[in-house]
Amino acid sequence: MDANILQCYTDAGQIASKVLRETVKYASHNVDISVLELAQVAEARIIELGGQIAFPCNISINEIASHYTPPANDILKLQKGDVVKIDVGAHIDGYIADTAATIEISTTKHTELLDASKKALENVIAVTCAGVNTKDMGKIIEDTINGMGFLPIYDLTGHNLKQYCLHANMNIPNYAASFGNTLLEGDVIAIEPFATYGKGTTRNGDSHIFSLNKLFGKHIHNESNTHSKSLLDDLYNQYGYLPFARRWLEDSAGANIDNYVTTGDIIAYPVLHEISGGIVSQFEHTVIVEESGCIITTN
Ligand code: MN
Ligand code: MN
Repeated sequence: MDANILQCYTDAGQIASKVLRETVKYASHNVDISVLELAQVAEARIIELGGQIAFPCNISINEIASHYTPPANDILKLQKGDVVKIDVGAHIDGYIADTAATIEISTTKHTELLDASKKALENVIAVTCAGVNTKDMGKIIEDTINGMGFLPIYDLTGHNLKQYCLHANMNIPNYAASFGNTLLEGDVIAIEPFATYGKGTTRNGDSHIFSLNKLFGKHIHNESNTHSKSLLDDLYNQYGYLPFARRWLEDSAGANIDNYVTTGDIIAYPVLHEISGGIVSQFEHTVIVEESGCIITTN
């Protein structure tokens, strides 16, 4: 890997992990914290530390597995006993770090559930190197989580990262899949085991996170709507194809997003609820694959 690119990845990793640590610490030692404030502080901190925001800070509570970012005016607060997944993304020049951790607010009822996804991540990182197949990584994750008495979330995966691209063409399954990809030296991947008391699949809820479709602009049915075309161009100039939050937009633009989801110009990332209401834990690191191991950028 080019030395400058490696530097960007490792700097982004340092920023994301520092912001995650700070956010976890702040959330752990307080109750009644506003989820909106927590997300905004985390996002502002990424900028303060010299990074760019790679995606809206996700704060997914209890049976919500992922993709909850607070909408504008959200009144949700963290409560005692909540199992909270905080997922932070930073980038430098498009080179992304994606990292997550789970905490339990002021109780210790779910320590084993948290340990299951954390241990699965540690076990799979320990064997990650060029030549390893992603389906075998999935088996390690599944075996670790099953061995501790839980199920993985089968329909959520890790992923590889490319410049300005959060989910590139490769998935890292959280179970022993039938097919996989062989890791190559220089691949950058986010590994993110999820463990649950539930059945291990998800259903869609509302959407607060979106991104432009790579084919945006080609789906517009109403060509006379030049005002709205400029919204898509504005979004492209601001975020490229990286995810953004509806709360980041002006009210009128935010209200227009759903029309573009319908036309296919914008992709919605709905909140993912565990299908049986089971509480979910998640840990995530971004790693760079090397010949005989890997570098964790988000340590
Ligand atoms: Mn993540
Ligand atoms: Mn990820």
